[in-house]
Amino acid sequence: MHWNKKFECMPLDQLKAFQLKNLKKTVAWVFDKVPFYTRKFKKLGISANDLKHIDDISKLPFTVKNDLRDNYPFGLCALPMDDIIGIHASSGTTGTPITNVYTQADLDQWAECVARNLWAYGVRKKDIVQNAYGYGLFTGGLGLHYGLLKIGCSIIPTSSGITERQVKLLKDFKPTALCSTPSYALTIAEKAEEMNIDIRKLPLKIGIFGAEPWTREMCSAIEERMGITALNIFGLTEMCGPGVGYECSVGQNGSHINEDHFIAEILDTKTFKPVPMGEKGELVFTSIQRQAMPLIRYRTKDITRFIPEKCSCGRTFVKIDRIFGRTDDMLIISGVNIFPSQIESFLFDIKEVDPQYRLIVRKKGYLDKLIVQVEARQEVYDKGEETRKQVEAKINSHIKDNIGISVDVNLVKPKFIGRSLGKAVRVVDER
Ligand code: ADP
Ligand code: ZN
Repeated sequence: MHWNKKFECMPLDQLKAFQLKNLKKTVAWVFDKVPFYTRKFKKLGISANDLKHIDDISKLPFTVKNDLRDNYPFGLCALPMDDIIGIHASSGTTGTPITNVYTQADLDQWAECVARNLWAYGVRKKDIVQNAYGYGLFTGGLGLHYGLLKIGCSIIPTSSGITERQVKLLKDFKPTALCSTPSYALTIAEKAEEMNIDIRKLPLKIGIFGAEPWTREMCSAIEERMGITALNIFGLTEMCGPGVGYECSVGQNGSHINEDHFIAEILDTKTFKPVPMGEKGELVFTSIQRQAMPLIRYRTKDITRFIPEKCSCGRTFVKIDRIFGRTDDMLIISGVNIFPSQIESFLFDIKEVDPQYRLIVRKKGYLDKLIVQVEARQEVYDKGEETRKQVEAKINSHIKDNIGISVDVNLVKPKFIGRSLGKAVRVVDER
């Protein structure tokens, strides 16, 4: 059940001691090797010796996305390029891509983290795995690949795209697991339906989906359409890539963080102090075993909460809830804060639509107006304009009942919205 029981189930006192030891080591390392951190630590008059308890992490300065952009591409690298054997960059969802660099040891620990995830999902050596995450600069493809190699699975490295071929290979090569973003999984499911291939009748049984926010409702919809168990994998380029957090076999309610590698904090988005256990805030990570580019208190902009209950799987690693959204994607409409994931879960209550949607923000006079564009099911669309208007009104009142604001709903025909091959673009800001 556990890939690495020693760490995944380590008694908490030992885990905290391990974290403190490695945090001190990392702080000393970047103080010595990365001028950006040397300056920051000197300014605060702080060094590794000031860390006596794991909570002393709060004395350390933050690292933010702009620090990585200002030091693009390799300014935060602690080692000469001679020691670097891998270079990746984030998908650039929210601006200039962010780079990460890896030594052999960094790649080994990344593979270890991903292998733990895969093992927890039930992936074993005998599995054939279709990896439809993009191979390349994006960390998804190769990150999963390294973990799959470590377990010894038969890997089908399709990368993302050429969706018809993805379906054909699901049928011909009979993989038992599929890795992709959840939105691309939906694109594949749709293509299979078009091709009259019933994925539910194929040997595929595990979906390893992540890299973008997706709701519990989206998860159930994909599971039903593909006849699989869909599990959530979480990660970010700045730490390594996928493999930072993983769901275990005990229900699909939260992801364990690989805490021997990454210290997680959840902080109030205004005060930057820890929120009370179980409350939502911004996820902050410190990598404590990396060589090439460890980051101290990196503010991810992802909003989630710790799950306070101990997990019955035996892992002592803390669990985070699903990512609610990114602060970048948060919309403020009529003074109400809205994340796309909230709208997504409301749309799942409406049986006349498919879960293909975009949120368009436009200026209307002085005000911001939110347009929820969503695809009607074919049979609903075909019923004509009057039915479509009724469905739009129904969605509007459902959203209004739940979050108190009125949105414009734009019901469009099936396949109107461009399909995702990687991360879906949910917000279109036309202001
Ligand atoms: P970016 O998307 O910022 O260009 P990355 O490709 O490194 O950069 O993606 C990391 C980000 O993707 C995370 O910070 C988070 O917002 C999102 N993400 C990754 N995995 C998940 C997941 N399982 N659920 C929700 N969001 C995720
Ligand atoms: Zn668990």
